[in-house]
Amino acid sequence: MTRKTETITLIGAGLNGPLLALGLVKRGFRVEVYERRPDMRRVRMSAGRSINLALSTRGIHALTEAGLWQAMQKIVIPMKGRMMHSASSELTFQPYGRNESEVINSISRAELGIALMNAAEAQGVTIHFQRRCTGVNLKTGTLRLRDEAEQERSVDCDVVIGCDGSASAIRGEMLRRSRFNFSQDYLDYGYRELTIPAGSGGEHVLETNALHIWPRGNYMLIALPNVDGTFACILFLPFEGADSFEQLTTRSTVQEFCQSRFPDAVPLMPDLADNFFANPTGTMVTIKCSPWHVKGRALLLGDAAHAIVPFFGQGINCGFEDCTVFLELLDRHGADWERVFEEFEKARKVNTDAIADMAVENFVEMRDHVADPRFLLRKKVELALEAKYPKSFVPKYAMVTFHRVPYAIALKRGQVQDRMLTELCEHMVRVEDLDWSKADHLIRTDLTPLELS
Ligand SMILES: Cc1cc2nc3c(=O)[nH]c(=O)nc-3n(C[C@H](O)[C@H](O)[C@H](O)COP(=O)(O)OP(=O)(O)OC[C@H]3O[C@@H](n4cnc5c(N)ncnc54)[C@H](O)[C@@H]3O)c2cc1C
Repeated sequence: MTRKTETITLIGAGLNGPLLALGLVKRGFRVEVYERRPDMRRVRMSAGRSINLALSTRGIHALTEAGLWQAMQKIVIPMKGRMMHSASSELTFQPYGRNESEVINSISRAELGIALMNAAEAQGVTIHFQRRCTGVNLKTGTLRLRDEAEQERSVDCDVVIGCDGSASAIRGEMLRRSRFNFSQDYLDYGYRELTIPAGSGGEHVLETNALHIWPRGNYMLIALPNVDGTFACILFLPFEGADSFEQLTTRSTVQEFCQSRFPDAVPLMPDLADNFFANPTGTMVTIKCSPWHVKGRALLLGDAAHAIVPFFGQGINCGFEDCTVFLELLDRHGADWERVFEEFEKARKVNTDAIADMAVENFVEMRDHVADPRFLLRKKVELALEAKYPKSFVPKYAMVTFHRVPYAIALKRGQVQDRMLTELCEHMVRVEDLDWSKADHLIRTDLTPLELS
């Protein structure tokens, strides 16, 4: 491809920024990225960024297209299912998929970010660290940047893409324009990061290939494995009320609360109180907005356009799918930015709205239902139906996680399938009681076969 003279400016070198930058530079564009934080490869980052992510098919597809997935095998751990820890420390394993190829992959956010930045820089992307975007003139493309000494300067840009996450400065600028639609919904829940260290020989002290959950109705603890033998844990709790963060103000209240609620986890966390107070309480928000672009000048992508709550494990998978779709449109239309931006939003908005809604629904499922025997029966029935009708009855979780079925279709078909399951499971006690002729009739009537990728 011939070298383009235009420079594309990206704000944010989190996860979507470097992946998109890599795709653009490979297509012959000059790419400059401005990131407000220091370079995490050189400076130890503050707490609050050590959470693990679950990577699944959409994210893997984008990383494969970028030629990065193979090399990432050494920094991911496949998780085959949920390991539920009951209040009396009993374990129940619930597979995510039909077989061992249907897994989700635990990866450290920092490791993923570093691999992406290294790959982007190796291809010629320039990342400027400690350059905070404080605003942009959306008519002229003049960007305002502040460095670590609080010096402000301006840079003229042809095209600006805001990959600057849920508190996007570029979106903030769009918000001042007329007829910009915007909503943000915070959960009444926050999260804190905790750690389960490796055993004395560097081994995992819980089952390695699982996402561990301690579901407790109104709150939960989860743990994802790291390659160094540790587990990255997240405690999700309401901000206020009974069993909430507002009550956990001292080392002893934290210790007592966790000991009584997660008795098998606490002995594995010798630094529980230190970890708890070292990290801030994170918030979780759903952000929807439109339009995502201003003419051919500026665009939002990833969390900047559509932040979602983390309970479907799709935030970055969705963002990486944004990159896939964006680059496909660029290949189709060339640097006709206005058209590419418009078609990008048209293709993605309906789908990102859908995953935002499904992520909130999944919060209730993870928190309240995963330990419920009726829910577990429905899951078994789902898998039995999928085994018999692999193209027509694909569980919502599988459509979202193991296939690239557009999220909006997954949402719609998921609702139809939910109604079917309610009808089929009504009088069932065991999966063997399934009325196959009724199931066959419902599936043939209400579901068309899917094109699965
Ligand atoms: C607790 C939790 C668990 C999660 N688990 C999962 C999971 O299992 N699977 C999954 O797919 N997703 C998960 N996510 C979501 C995922 O982390 C996000 O979707 C993803 O990080 C979004 O990537 P991004 O590049 O758009 O934004 P970010 O990762 O937020 O990166 C934005 C970057 O922009 C920089 N920046 C911000 N403002 C400016 C500015 N003004 N100037 C310059 N730079 C700026 C920031 O410093 C940052 O580096 C989780 C999120 C949370 C909070």
